Parts: sequence; structure tokens; C-alpha cells
Amino acid sequence: MSKPFRAVKGTRDLLPKDTVQWRRLEAVIHDTMRAWSYGEIRTPVFESTELFARSVGEESDIVSKQMYTLSDQSDNSLTLRPELTAPTMRAYIQHDMARDGALTKLYYMDTLFRQERPQAGRMRQFSQFGAEAIGSPHPEQDAEVISLICAILDQLGVDNLEVVINSIGSAESRKRYRSELVSFLTPLKGQVSETSQRRLETNPLRILDTSDEKEQALLADAPDILEFLNEDDLGHFEELQKSLTQLGVDYRRDKSLVRGLDYYTRTTFEITSPDVGAQSALCGGGRYDDLIAQLGGKPTPAVGFAAGIERILMAAAEQKESSSGGVSVYVVTASDGARAAAAKLADDLRRTGITASFDTLRRSVKAQLREANRLSSSHAVFLGDDELASGSAEVKELDSGRQSMVAIEGIIPHFTTG
Ligand code: AMP
Repeated sequence: MSKPFRAVKGTRDLLPKDTVQWRRLEAVIHDTMRAWSYGEIRTPVFESTELFARSVGEESDIVSKQMYTLSDQSDNSLTLRPELTAPTMRAYIQHDMARDGALTKLYYMDTLFRQERPQAGRMRQFSQFGAEAIGSPHPEQDAEVISLICAILDQLGVDNLEVVINSIGSAESRKRYRSELVSFLTPLKGQVSETSQRRLETNPLRILDTSDEKEQALLADAPDILEFLNEDDLGHFEELQKSLTQLGVDYRRDKSLVRGLDYYTRTTFEITSPDVGAQSALCGGGRYDDLIAQLGGKPTPAVGFAAGIERILMAAAEQKESSSGGVSVYVVTASDGARAAAAKLADDLRRTGITASFDTLRRSVKAQLREANRLSSSHAVFLGDDELASGSAEVKELDSGRQSMVAIEGIIPHFTTG
């Protein structure tokens, strides 16, 4: 016999017990986004490779080694989306959404793909939701976006969170900082990894992002970017902190939070939870005032975040779906002659919105009751030849064992008006 197929490494199936939890999370996200006036956008699964190279950056981990890239028959280079901000901005420009107003608020919830080394909390196909506020350069917009993700996490029962913020300034401030950082790191070159040595030439700020503890210790004395920010950048960061305090968001500043994507300017932030193990980041985001222009649109400031759904579900307190209050009926077929009537009754109940089941395995009454129990049905209705002859059937509350005789005609009103 051939070996059964398995899902590809780094991908997973969501089984019915998982999708219940997912749908709950999706509902919270849609409801909260609606309350905050963000409109949903869905973009294609693949885009031209150039879109990501130009926005996320050639030197980023994502573009340099994680993309699923393929050529189509016309030799176009296409890439399965490894993130959703660039596609969202591509769509914003393509559909001239700026025409609809000076501020555009969009959100997405979709699947993405990165060739990473799979481990707990790190998948090759995973899902994110995110929000993008396009049009405002002001710090209250950054604070609104941070407060929005905090509100969603709060509603999902994810506590024990840490909000970490930083500012990496505008391109101009960053240039000054970059040369200072290179002067600091050059004498230490022999003590850092090959990757960091390469980054010293190509993108020194990214070294601050290192997960290597030895390098982190070396970086403790690195110059602080805040000292290199111009007055406007600094004012923006101070106002952001004030806005967050006003909104009741606790945060910590981390001078090494630069994030792994090239398009950020000024604000960067991350939300972490110790409850998900080594991959503790639940959400990352920041301002990207230059991205829309880089992608060929009119220069437009924007700020947003992306949060990983799988990791949030890992961090969410186990929320058991409560079955209390909901009626679900198991129609027990008590004789062969009642099979069609049981199927019809279950069908009628379902059409009124009541969860109902009946047996298609032609099992014994005892086995059917075991099944009703497994399904956590609240009631059983017994239909057999006698019931069909008399026109009434026994309805049993499975928790209490309480029973009553109900006219078959009256069973649907019994449940719908009860
Ligand atoms: P990023 O787009 O890299 O800023 O990531 C934003 C969020 O997506 C992270 O904070 C994680 O929660 C989640 N995430 C990123 N990469 C993965 C992955 N490979 N598997 C699962 N979740 C991920």
C-alpha cells in the first residue's frame, strides 16, 4: 500500500474544532474594524515579484530568501504574497482610492506564504489580519492604529501583552544615524556573525534586529537613534507617546526595534506575548510615509500593523464554545418505518435554523443516543411506528432527563417558541 499523503511541511489543516475558534476570532476582527471605520480589502494571492522587491526591500530576509516565486508561461516572475501591506498599497494606487477622501482606512485578513524554517509559531503558510490608515501623517493616527490592535487582542482574551515602540525617524535622520552606527560597529566587526558583517555594508540598521544574544550584548552600548532624529521626527514620537498614554495603552520603548521590512519611517511597534514561546511577536507595524510614492503613487503618509492569527490563537486563553442556551435536536429513528419521517423532521428543524441531526447509519436506538451525547445535543425526539400512528412523539431533555409528549405537528413550534 502506498504511504498516505501528508500536508506539506510548514502548512496545516484546520479541523472543525479549530475553525470554531477561527470563526470567533474572525467575527471579533470584522466587528471591531467596522466600529473603527476600516473597510475590508481582499487582494490576489500572487503579485508581480517586483512589487515585493521594491517595497519590502531586496536585502530583507523576506525578499532575499523567503519568497515563493514562480514564472508563468510568459516568463513573468510572480510571487505568492509574503506580506499584505505592499499588495494593499498597490490596490490603493491602482483604484485611485485617494479620490474617495483624504483618509482611507483599510483592513485585511488573509493567508500568506514565506519559506521559513518551520517551528512552533512559525509556518510557511500562515494568516494575518492587519489595518492600514492611509493619508494622515500625524501621531494620533499611529496611536489609533496601536489602540485598535490592543482592543482586538483584549476582546480575544489575549492578556499578558507588551507593547514595544520606537521611532526610526525619517530617511534624512536615519542617514545620520546609519553612519554613526557603522562607526560604532566597524571595530566590532570581527565579533559579529557573517550576516551582520554583510549587513554592515548593506543595511546596518537591520543588525539591531539580531536575535543572537552575543550580538545583542555588543549592541547595548550602540548609539541611540533618538539622539539623531530631527526636531519633527522627535516631536512626532513624543506626541505619539502622549496619545498612547491618553488612550490608556501601556508601552515600553526599545531603541533596537527597527523591524525587518525596509519601508518603515518614524514609528515602529511590536506587540509580544510571553505565552507563545520563542516566537513571541503577535503583531508588528509602523509608519511607512514613503512607500506609496516608491510604488508609483502620489506621496501619501500611512501607518498600519499586521498580526499573526495562528500565534494569537496560541496566546488566547482557551475559550471553550459554550453550548448553553442553544437548542440542538437529535431525531432518534426508533423503527425502520420511521426513517423517512425522521429525516423530514430533522430537515424541517434545520430549515428554521435549529441544529438537528438524524442517523444515516441505521444504528440501534442505544447507539443513536450515544451519538446524540457525542454531539452534545440538548434534546432527543423519538420517532417510531407507534409515534407515527398516534401522531405524537416523546421529546427528552438530555441533561435533565425530563420528558414530554408533543404532537409531531407541534414539534417545530415547541422548539422555536419554547
Ligand atoms: P511581519 O509581517 O513579519 O511583520 O509579521 C507580523 C506578524 O505575523 C508576526 O508578529 C507574527 O505574529 C506573524 N508571523 C510572521 N511570520 C510568521 C510565520 N512564519 N508563521 C506564523 N506567523 C508569522
